[in-house]
Amino acid sequence: MAVNGIPPAPPGPPSLPAHPDPATDAILDSGLLHELSHAFGGPFHFLLPHRFDANLAALRAALDEAGVDGRVYYAKKANKAAVWVERCAARGAGVDVAAPGELREALGHGVRGEDLVVTGPAKSDELLRAAALHGALTTVDSLGELDRLLTGARTRSGALRPARLLLRRLPPAQPESRFGMDGAEIEEALGRCVRAGDAIRMEGFSFHLSGYATRPRADLAGHLVDLCLKARAMGLRADRISIGGGLAVDYTAAADWHAFLAAQRPAHYHARKSFAAGDFYPYHSPVAGAAALRAVLDAVPEGGRESLAARLRGTGTRLLAEPGRALLDRAGSSVFRVQGVKDRAGYAILTVDGTSLSLSEQWFGSEYLPDPALVTPAGRALGQGAHPACVGGATCLESDLLTWRKIPFPARPAVGDLLVYPNTAGYQMDSNESSFHDLPLPPKIVIEAAGGRGTGGGRPRWRLDRHLAR
Ligand SMILES: *Cc1c(COP(=O)(O)O)cnc(C)c1O
Repeated sequence: MAVNGIPPAPPGPPSLPAHPDPATDAILDSGLLHELSHAFGGPFHFLLPHRFDANLAALRAALDEAGVDGRVYYAKKANKAAVWVERCAARGAGVDVAAPGELREALGHGVRGEDLVVTGPAKSDELLRAAALHGALTTVDSLGELDRLLTGARTRSGALRPARLLLRRLPPAQPESRFGMDGAEIEEALGRCVRAGDAIRMEGFSFHLSGYATRPRADLAGHLVDLCLKARAMGLRADRISIGGGLAVDYTAAADWHAFLAAQRPAHYHARKSFAAGDFYPYHSPVAGAAALRAVLDAVPEGGRESLAARLRGTGTRLLAEPGRALLDRAGSSVFRVQGVKDRAGYAILTVDGTSLSLSEQWFGSEYLPDPALVTPAGRALGQGAHPACVGGATCLESDLLTWRKIPFPARPAVGDLLVYPNTAGYQMDSNESSFHDLPLPPKIVIEAAGGRGTGGGRPRWRLDRHLAR
């Protein structure tokens, strides 16, 4: 309502704080990040491997509690750092790879071939051969790929071990998916597997669903168990199923997320850019990570009478899961230095020392929403936001914004301050990275928990991940 003829100020752009994370805050408050920004002279990512370990342990606990014989494979495409694969090797977890380079990386950092699952459509003969030679489990996406795998297995025959495979099911509920085989193709594939005899070992079925809902995963898993029983009756081994990835990550509190979605509109973005609620990743998920796996196991698959867990136990079927994002939850952040600040009507445009290619969400017509922390040389800026600013990259492209949104910062950002985007290890850091403009790729810094073993009391210790710009 207008008071004395002055219309009320429209509410400012909404914030979207990430869940509180004291371990990350301790790093932001330690002074280490300014030191690293100075040392590397550009943006960088930091990685927290103890978080990966904790996420893996939580997923395994969910399998154990359900009494299910299960195995976790880290979906490597979610982040290229070596440290995750090293953690998998150290903790006996598997790795899901989909390209020859990923397979080499996994083997090279100590994961055994038999602990790999090889996914992806129409895999190259090179990848199929390497998978078979190393005893990896290959998910077969089509009849044509099955034939190529069988041909390779026959020509290698003799003393070598049989090629291990799963057949990937096209999700009946997502018939538009370009992945997997429909019911008739699965039927045909089973016949070909039987005829291939000892050249192969048909170990079961797999799927990977879009979206994050747990019920469709339980339903399709139930269907795959039925397929296993059918395959066993034909003399095939078929003792395991893979439910792929897609365990949600919960970045923000429910109230913050719903308030954000209700408030956000084009005026809150640079250049009045507009996003529909459905353009965003669901940054709040009431059921996420290990709880999502538990929900899948507890659900009664469509048409059945017992939980998926009971069905797996009762049929002696092993469950494989291939989470990427969920294993990386809160396991890393991305740090950019403010290089310029300019004013526009009602907000500032920050330019940082990196690009949106190091915060990938932008390249899917979307935006990474959890608020970045503003870290000044004197420490974190805290309090109520009153200084809106969008964040541009150090390139000559109008479209290169890390954040179009006018983030309400608690203080006016200044040159030399750092912006720390939280929880970016899952897909944000490197899936789209590029040395566009001859800018170097941001290095990845592994930080051990402050106060952890060998960290010298309260001071966090760091080292480079083995990956440098390549
Ligand atoms: C991408 C992918 C995953 C991992 O998905 P997340 O959503 O990161 O858990 C697992 N399996 C397959 C086959 C994939 O393509």
